[in-house]
Amino acid sequence: MTQFASLPWAAILFSALAMTLIVALRYLATSGLFAWITGRVRPGLYAGQDAQIRNEVRWSLASAAIYGLPAGVVAWGWQNRGWTRIYTDWSDWPLWYAPLSLMLYLLLHDTWFYWTHRWMHGPRGLRWGHALHHASKPPTAWAAMSFHPWEALSGALVIPLLTFVIPIHVGILGLVLTIMTVMGIANHMGWEMFSRRIVHGPLGKWLITASHHERHHREYRCNYGLYFRHWDRLCGTDRDPVDFSPRP
Ligand SMILES: [Zn+2]
Ligand SMILES: [Zn+2]
Repeated sequence: MTQFASLPWAAILFSALAMTLIVALRYLATSGLFAWITGRVRPGLYAGQDAQIRNEVRWSLASAAIYGLPAGVVAWGWQNRGWTRIYTDWSDWPLWYAPLSLMLYLLLHDTWFYWTHRWMHGPRGLRWGHALHHASKPPTAWAAMSFHPWEALSGALVIPLLTFVIPIHVGILGLVLTIMTVMGIANHMGWEMFSRRIVHGPLGKWLITASHHERHHREYRCNYGLYFRHWDRLCGTDRDPVDFSPRP
């Protein structure tokens, strides 16, 4: 109890606020960039969606606070109390472990996402909050973090908790967060940035890109995965990626 009371709460709060700001700015910069690119390569794609985009930005900024809070607390504990298994010296673990840790984080996050996402498409899950994400019809590059607070919380805890269990270099952790941010945005932006050879080739059979997640937004009852298609394929919920031209 004394130990709890003696924690420097102001510093922890400051870390949580700083992290919230970082997540919010990262979202605005990256979604803004992809929305701008969309305007160049698919002019008029988001025409008439201004009101929806305002909602997507509002909910995404609320999610930034929910993501920032646990991340900021864990970052403070990592820096000041030696929490987590995040390491900074590449020689702490063999070099071959770096790509393995990347895959472990992506696979475990994907597994958590697939099963919670499937639950969210049951009758209780949609009412619980997932309907908000699907209010974006069709979604835009601004919808990447447009989640009900409950859903944002379920996503926000995964990676901070994993850092307590699975060792990861801070640079690889940055790569995990970059992949999460970029793919989250790209998968909602309404066009495919990868070539047909990738999407419809052997790699596309296992990886999720915009054409795959778009089908989830059109049909609801398929393509629940985040990065990989293996859970969808194993569980019979996988459908082929859509062809984006034209978008209904
Ligand atoms: Zn969904
Ligand atoms: Zn989505």
